[in-house]
Amino acid sequence: MHDEKSLACDVPTEVLPEPSEVCISTKQSAGKPAVPCVETGQEVKEGQLIAKADGAISSNVFASVAGRVTAVKTGTSPAGAQETVIVIAAAGNGEKSYLPPLADPTAEQIVARIAEAGIVGLGGAGFPAAVKDAPKCKVDTLVLNGAECEPYLTCDHRLMVERTDDIVRGARYIAKALGISNVMIGIELNKPDAIAAFEPYADIKVVALKKRYPMGSEKHLIYSCTGRTVKYRQLPADAGVIVHNVGTALAVCEAIELGKPLYEREITVSGRAVKEPKNLWVKIGTSINDIVAYCGGEAEAPKKAVVGGPMTGTAIASYDNYVYKTTGGVLLMTAKEADTMEPTPCLNCGKCADVCPMHLMPMQTAFYSNTGDFDAAAKLGGTMYCIECGACEYVCPAKRPLIQAIRKTKAAVRAKNK
Ligand code: SF4
Ligand code: SF4
Repeated sequence: MHDEKSLACDVPTEVLPEPSEVCISTKQSAGKPAVPCVETGQEVKEGQLIAKADGAISSNVFASVAGRVTAVKTGTSPAGAQETVIVIAAAGNGEKSYLPPLADPTAEQIVARIAEAGIVGLGGAGFPAAVKDAPKCKVDTLVLNGAECEPYLTCDHRLMVERTDDIVRGARYIAKALGISNVMIGIELNKPDAIAAFEPYADIKVVALKKRYPMGSEKHLIYSCTGRTVKYRQLPADAGVIVHNVGTALAVCEAIELGKPLYEREITVSGRAVKEPKNLWVKIGTSINDIVAYCGGEAEAPKKAVVGGPMTGTAIASYDNYVYKTTGGVLLMTAKEADTMEPTPCLNCGKCADVCPMHLMPMQTAFYSNTGDFDAAAKLGGTMYCIECGACEYVCPAKRPLIQAIRKTKAAVRAKNK
């Protein structure tokens, strides 16, 4: 697989200038959306709480600019879901409202701060980090995920090189919260400078990983770093391990030491249809329009635009979309890169099964979901074990929409089981 990381991996992070307006979704994590606690017309400061978490599997949402709330309304996510969004017109005065910094916090204070600061897994899944850091069973190992195995994405790579010490301090806080001292970081071998950056830290074991997609999936990372297996329906904690993305560790460091809530993050803007691929530090709620314009605009009309990575991201029909806590990238892909051939009938070649890291039968999922028999699709395809890495669809010579069939099957089975 061509990873195309060379487009941006050596481009140092730039801070995107403050946009004139941000549009912040209240659905920034797995679980329930947050509940707005500001009204139209209200003045807010950067870092001020604007929507409160609704239960444990939810996350607080904060203003990413100081300014005036101009709307609390219904918007549409990149995946097409209806959600409540809060629009803020920036005042440009930079007024901030942070939490009080914590000096030498206890384990309980760390977990409470992670929840209060709205920190979620920044690798893409968006699971509230505080829930992970208060596991119900005994864990002994923290694994930092620095694999960044998705093609094109280089934002974690830049963070590991540029913000190494902040990530390490964040990891130490998380380890303290978990009451453990065994901390590892898994980094793919294609990032030798990131591996070298962590080697001086005696309390962090660096595991150099083979470059192999989807190495960054939790189960594969845990196996590669510790040799432990996480079975179906088990969580990493059942194997004694907690995994956090390197960006999440950085956010934890800032929340503890600066009192800074999570309202900005690093993203990669790449693909051969964008003029200047970059790694950017951006505010949550920034428009993709502003981001593309800052990167010099289009080098050519993209065949496909994606938020996230090319394997697990979501294709968008226009740039009228916004950055979420979980947005790791914006990709503008040419026709050659996007490979948008029309699907043809299945050839029964078996390549999708050969490549599946979970040893599933995606062609069976696709076949039976097309007939509407989701039980058979799940049973014969093994669909509920799927980690949605996209490898099967990538290799399929018939360009079958396998991920679509997988998601449809999972949704149908879950709805039935409810
Ligand atoms: S997306 Fe495809 S290759 Fe990846 S785990 Fe699921 S079935 Fe297997
Ligand atoms: S790779 Fe595509 S064509 Fe081959 S068996 Fe799988 S779905 Fe069918």
